[in-house]
Amino acid sequence: MVDSRNLLEKVSDISTESEFFVPIPPGYKKGRTRYCFVMGTVMSGLGKGIFSSCLAKLMQDKGLTVAPIKLEGYLNIDSGTLNPFRHGEVFVLDDGMECDMDLGTYERILDQDLTRANFATSGQIFSSILHKERHGDYLGRDVQMIPHVTGEVKLKLRRLAAETDADIVFVEIGGTVGDLENAYYIEAMRELAYEEGPNSCCFMALTYILEPKILGEQKSKAAQLGIKQLMQCGVQPDIIACRAANPVSEKVRQKISVYSNVPFERIFDMPDSASIYMIPAMLRDAGLDFKVARLLNIEDRIDLRHERKAWARWCDFTDKIGSANHQVTIGITGKYTSVRDSYASIINALEHAGIALASETEIKWIETTTITDGNVAENLKDVDGIIVPGGFGTRGAEGKIACAKYARENNLPFLGLCFGFQMAVIEFARNVCGLTEANSTEIDPDCTGPVIDILPEQKKIEGLGGNMRLGGRDIELKARTLAWKLFGKKDSVRMRFRHRYEVDPRYIEVLEKAGLLFSGKAPNQPIMQILELPSHPFFIGTQAHPCLTSRPLNPQPMFVGLVAAAVQRHYPDEKLADPVQASRKVCG
Ligand code: GLN
Repeated sequence: MVDSRNLLEKVSDISTESEFFVPIPPGYKKGRTRYCFVMGTVMSGLGKGIFSSCLAKLMQDKGLTVAPIKLEGYLNIDSGTLNPFRHGEVFVLDDGMECDMDLGTYERILDQDLTRANFATSGQIFSSILHKERHGDYLGRDVQMIPHVTGEVKLKLRRLAAETDADIVFVEIGGTVGDLENAYYIEAMRELAYEEGPNSCCFMALTYILEPKILGEQKSKAAQLGIKQLMQCGVQPDIIACRAANPVSEKVRQKISVYSNVPFERIFDMPDSASIYMIPAMLRDAGLDFKVARLLNIEDRIDLRHERKAWARWCDFTDKIGSANHQVTIGITGKYTSVRDSYASIINALEHAGIALASETEIKWIETTTITDGNVAENLKDVDGIIVPGGFGTRGAEGKIACAKYARENNLPFLGLCFGFQMAVIEFARNVCGLTEANSTEIDPDCTGPVIDILPEQKKIEGLGGNMRLGGRDIELKARTLAWKLFGKKDSVRMRFRHRYEVDPRYIEVLEKAGLLFSGKAPNQPIMQILELPSHPFFIGTQAHPCLTSRPLNPQPMFVGLVAAAVQRHYPDEKLADPVQASRKVCG
């Protein structure tokens, strides 16, 4: 009898004869890869990405190859057009993919670069199906949600498995069980588990335990209903993680076990944690990693020696959390300051640098829309350094320029990122070179001093959409500069970009003559990528987004340099490591 589980053995493709539709990518080996599905019930914002990445990390520590993927319900093709106010920061991968900020969590926790294969949206799934339909690939079949749309999802997961040769693919489904837009993802998971057979998949549901103040006790009903909704989709969870403000009582966990058919020892609690970096230990202490390994029948692939080493390294890092002996305040000047998620990577990069240097790094949010030359000193008086972050458009730009001016004139440690780098160039051109009309054509398209202008290569494709310079690029470093020293005297480094505008090469000479040093540029192109002021204790900017590649176990040298310079400024009487010494000590 034909059975879709057998079809897997063959190169199954579309057939008008059969109801089964199991497209298999080349090189896929059935049984090689296991799948962990992470879903949320009751509400969104439970930290599915954090849970999934921390569990993936524990499996990676065991010497297993892990490949995460986030499945988004929305119809956008990528996250590039999403407003960071609504959706948090747009994270950019090395291959130029603009994706959800959860991918940043995976990269940081796993210390692993991801690609576009690790991110899918409904937009991508449907676009691919519609393309195939027009191409006649469905051979006269009516194209249906089941099996074709679900088939496309399964294809995406198996392709990731084949490309990465992963032991475990971690699949995080965006949104909450019960959302119309992710229902077909859950159906695809159910089908995949059926086709791959027993012990191939592990379904994990995150749920939330309410603790209304007025009752003073934990209530499990919402969680029960959420899990029930998942079971109505034909999915029996194997593991339930109970998110809650406090540790979840045994009674509540027993109740959830009874209602969900999930054995009590597989109901975990996951109370709020001060640092996400403590969560791997929380999951490990609860034995979640070995339970998953057992469920997936993958214990024989575990390398315990690898695990011992990886775990020791991780604990060296987490031991430093909360043991700071200095404290500094870094101002972040931007217009999205009311939504912290829009600066997630910067916050993380500062945290990594602070932990590595044993300096608690407080953030002061500075809304630049109201900053002027007149009030900037008042606003920056209690900070030890500033970051002028990336941004788009006019609002708040003059405030950022005022901040850069204040930092330059007052020896305040400064790090300019992308738009912040551009604002530093404008400030220097106006106030040091005397180009009073200096501006960016993004802010004033008709300005007579366009020191920042649209990239020539981007001009050609303007209007076609997707006209940003995106993804990882090499930066050539000039020898003996601050940047070169911070990065351990390397000739070149790689960082990630997301911009349309750049320094107009016609102004490079006048800027450099007046004392601005471009210490990093694109190889073979006059694109300026790092600037610094040799006369200043720490003034550096980059057209890139170095925050995107800062990792807890590998802090980013520019952030380490900034925090070190801020510590030096705050504690002038102590003989502390300078930014270069500090970065060399803690950066790989
Ligand atoms: N708006 C600027 C540009 O497009 C900076 C972009 C950014 O900060 N990401 O070049």
